Amino acid sequence: MKLMGGYQPLNLTFLEIEAIWTANDMNCILCNDGDESSDHMLLSCYVSASVWNAISNWCNIPQLFAFTIPDLLSAHNLCRCDKEKKALLQAIIYTSCWCIWKERNEAIFRNKRPSIPNIIKEIKCLSFLWVKTRGKMGC
Ligand SMILES: [Zn+2]
Repeated sequence: MKLMGGYQPLNLTFLEIEAIWTANDMNCILCNDGDESSDHMLLSCYVSASVWNAISNWCNIPQLFAFTIPDLLSAHNLCRCDKEKKALLQAIIYTSCWCIWKERNEAIFRNKRPSIPNIIKEIKCLSFLWVKTRGKMGC
């Protein structure tokens, strides 16, 4: 499909985005101690590990720990709780990924200094708002 000016819309898969991302050969802006990749940012970065620790404590669940992003995104299924709490935990995990990614982008594009307490505060606020909004929509 061609749009005005001959440009095509971006239609990249996750693996293609990952390939572009890792080809940039950047250091992680959050911890400055590792090559930047989605795996590092969400799984092994000191900043994300601190976030997952705080989220585990906040949700009163065993420590969140995953070797792969799909494992992280399905970690709510390992929780010994009812279906409603699993859905809530899933929303919090997704929100956390979003907030870590957002903090990374604000550090790169706005020269903002990464802050673990700010990430956690934003996760709590956004999780509440998103879950509250979702509840109103009957989803
Ligand atoms: Zn890092």
